[in-house]
Amino acid sequence: MKRISLWGLIVVPFALLAILGGATVYILSTVTLANVSDNVGWHYMREIESRVYDRVTEFMAPLDTVVQVNRDAISYHPEYLDDLDVLAGRFYEQAVAYPYMTFVSFATADGRYVNSTRDPFGSSHHVATNYTRGPNFLDAFNYDPVDFVGTHIESEPTFKGYDPRTRPFYQDALQQDGMTWSAIEPYFGYESLGVGLSAPIYAQDGTLLGVTATSVALVSLDKFLQSIELVDDSYVFLAEANGDLIATSRDQALFSEEAGAMKRVSLSTYQDPLFQLAGTQLAEGTRQIEMDGKGYLYHVRPVPLPYGQTWYVGVLIPESYYKNILSDYSEALMWIVLLMFLSIALAGSFVARFIARPILQLNQAATSHSLEQIRNLPRPFSRVREINSLGRRLQNMAYRLSDAMQNLEQKVAQRTSDLKDENETLMEQSTTDELTGLYNRRGFKLLSEQALKQAQDQDLSLTMVLCDIDHFKMVNDSLGHSVGDQALAVVASVLKEHFRSEDICVRYGGEEFMLIIVGMTRGDVMKRLNLVRQALCDHPDLPERRITLSFGVTHLDPPVDTPLEILIQEVDTKLYRAKHEGRDKIVG
Ligand code: GH3
Ligand code: MG
Ligand code: MG
Repeated sequence: MKRISLWGLIVVPFALLAILGGATVYILSTVTLANVSDNVGWHYMREIESRVYDRVTEFMAPLDTVVQVNRDAISYHPEYLDDLDVLAGRFYEQAVAYPYMTFVSFATADGRYVNSTRDPFGSSHHVATNYTRGPNFLDAFNYDPVDFVGTHIESEPTFKGYDPRTRPFYQDALQQDGMTWSAIEPYFGYESLGVGLSAPIYAQDGTLLGVTATSVALVSLDKFLQSIELVDDSYVFLAEANGDLIATSRDQALFSEEAGAMKRVSLSTYQDPLFQLAGTQLAEGTRQIEMDGKGYLYHVRPVPLPYGQTWYVGVLIPESYYKNILSDYSEALMWIVLLMFLSIALAGSFVARFIARPILQLNQAATSHSLEQIRNLPRPFSRVREINSLGRRLQNMAYRLSDAMQNLEQKVAQRTSDLKDENETLMEQSTTDELTGLYNRRGFKLLSEQALKQAQDQDLSLTMVLCDIDHFKMVNDSLGHSVGDQALAVVASVLKEHFRSEDICVRYGGEEFMLIIVGMTRGDVMKRLNLVRQALCDHPDLPERRITLSFGVTHLDPPVDTPLEILIQEVDTKLYRAKHEGRDKIVG
């Protein structure tokens, strides 16, 4: 099974988490948010545009309806012309339902005129005729539910001698011979633009009966556009196809009087260059335009009206509005990501601190092969219960192991010392002759080389003496073996007594003894050997108080380069000579 490290186990998942988080945020911010912000801009624009579109179509719809209704009614009932007051009442009642309906009127082919008039800025709503007080006087009357044309309000001095057939609405309708839009113009006497729809009315037999018309004050649309709450630096306008403005979200006059003539304001003559730029691209669609380094989203939607008339709604939104949404979101996201990374790092460091660190510490202590290090692990070892317990148990084991090792070391030391003693005893036993207490052949082997080397190194003399008891067989034979043994012991002790402790006395064979003496003169050796002979001559512990020895002596001063074997051979030869020459002799 593949093994993974603890760090790997911690770092890899956290790194993966961080990468995953980063990727998510990247996708969210670059793709999703960009779409969201674009959508926000788009939807905002569309919402404004739709509100204006709906309002305009709703606002303009009654014009057509009312003109059609009145045209048909009069066409089928030409008798209405006999009492125009009834029509005055009818028009008034029609206009009540439409608060923006400024005029509903009818002009007869013979020049009579009746209408319902509403002040576009006030609540004044009345009827007017040009036939009640006398021909061609245009007078305003209160509406009367019974007589329709009620009490007189005022005469309009400007229209004294008013002949409706000279007015544009009448003439245009006849000329077009159908539904006809009037040009949008300022209303006389009111700070408002107005637009009208008129139609000629024919009797069923085709006789011209007159022209009926309706008209609305466009100031309501202008006010509506101004009432829309737009984000900063955004604009909405309503314009004719030629760019002449009908309404805007800005509270500014849409016409002016120049040299007695009324002049309308168009996108191209508007004081704001942004509107001028918008005027150059007044066509359906959405585009980005730039003014003074500032980007705008510019959307134009046509508002089709009946009878070939089309107006245009234009919406301008600064890019900064929806781009700011992106940057706001991005900033929020950045904080979220930062927080996420911090949380991950914090979680990682907690895991590392509480799990990985103590485990690595444990591992390090365990691999150091030092019980001391394990014993010295901090207490408590970890805040994690299980890891702490693991550390404590390991520590206890280390303590127990230390104790056991200490005991073992003591035992081993004791055992070693015992073995050393035993070894020494064994060594002594193995190199000592049991009967005489002198060195045996093994002892000789060990010590003779050392002695030779010492003499050679220190330039000292070396004397080798080999002696053998004369006729010892006879002692045994005559007195028994144990007496023989006793005699051997006596000879040995006498030899030892007459030489120094550092001189090597060896039982070399059955009743043969070897002496190795370093740093003693030949004369001194001879003297001592003679003393040995004397001591054995009248020794109380010896059978028949006498034993003799034959000696072979070799003295080298110093024993340069002479091997031990040669020396042994030499003393052996000399001993043989001593025996041959009659025994109880020293040959050297
Ligand atoms: P020589 O003068 O030629 O040395 O005569 P010898 O009798 O001493 O010579 P030989 O070598 O023939 O005899 C040695 C004897 O020493 C034979 C043996 O019984 C005796 N002997 C050797 N070792 C011991 C011992 O440990 N104890 C006793 N009691 N006798 C021993
Ligand atoms: Mg012998
Ligand atoms: Mg002998």
